[in-house]
Amino acid sequence: MKKVAVLTSGGDAPGMNAAIRAVVRKGIYEGLKIIGVKRGYAGLIEGDFEPLERRSVADIIHRGGTFLRSARSEEFRSKEGRRKAVEQLKYIGADGLVIIGGDGSFKGAQLLGEESDIKTVGIPGTIDNDIACTDYSIGYDTALNTILDAMNKIRDTATSHERTFVIEAMGRHSGFLTLMSGLAGGAESILIPEFDFDLDQVCQKLEAGYERGKLHSIILVAEGIGDNFQTSRDLNESKAFALGEEISKRIGLETRVTVLGHLQRGGTPTAQDRLLATRLGAAAVDVLLTGETNKMVGVIHDQIEVAEIEEAIESQKDVDEGLYELADILSL
Ligand code: ATP
Repeated sequence: MKKVAVLTSGGDAPGMNAAIRAVVRKGIYEGLKIIGVKRGYAGLIEGDFEPLERRSVADIIHRGGTFLRSARSEEFRSKEGRRKAVEQLKYIGADGLVIIGGDGSFKGAQLLGEESDIKTVGIPGTIDNDIACTDYSIGYDTALNTILDAMNKIRDTATSHERTFVIEAMGRHSGFLTLMSGLAGGAESILIPEFDFDLDQVCQKLEAGYERGKLHSIILVAEGIGDNFQTSRDLNESKAFALGEEISKRIGLETRVTVLGHLQRGGTPTAQDRLLATRLGAAAVDVLLTGETNKMVGVIHDQIEVAEIEEAIESQKDVDEGLYELADILSL
């Protein structure tokens, strides 16, 4: 192993920069040349490369986003697209590739690893924390804290005006981030794609709370509840609005809706995300140095673990039903 390329792919996540920094500096320490790939797989296909030195990654450990930038690439999904990507890597003499991204990016990495002799290793970077074979993904902790901060602020208004708030958090397919935010923030109801919910029960709980003297309520919903909650409104609109309207209609409580949207992705990474990114970045270099391929690095019980990338793609990371029930019990 002499030259390693590194890219960030899929949705950006706070801590990706810290991971790139660790890959670059650990790689150089081990005698490798490190090449940054701009704009994920799209830039890889186009050969949008930048050699990275120790100084190239100065002053980025605390920055959100990814200085290599990220992108989605339809072309990379095709064999022909991946062939072009491999050609670009060969052209610059890279024999290893570090992919920082979510499960889609991992799938692409696995195919590239199978179709070529480029050694690949994935680092889980997604605020959703929905990647198997690791307890945490880079960016999740920062996003969790961002949502909590937003909930605290909204709660001030909710209390002052005695209102019910529906807050929508990110998570199209995974409710992990929403569940943990709701649990940590004391939401009155948590609605996530993994579990069906009964709106009558949600309303009954709200009414019972107000009868007990509750001044406000927060219903935290993941954006992916769409499949569980049918609405006649514009299908492109967030389901949280329809949910808020329906609650008002059923029980007459004035309801406000806040969609947190992309503010959940940005921001300076928390200490936990920086440490995770730093450890995983260095571990990814170690994996490549062993000559192994199609691996991912993760952290389980605070220990770095290496797994087959295929296992991470094929296994489902389930949300903890016990925690979902606990959140419900504590909010009664
Ligand atoms: P996030 O969790 O933030 O959405 P992600 O890595 O899952 O991150 P995707 O948009 O699913 O984000 O994937 C990123 C890129 O990975 C895609 O634009 C595409 O180039 C590549 N990719 C995704 N799925 C596949 C696949 N099945 N085969 C080949 N490449 C893929």
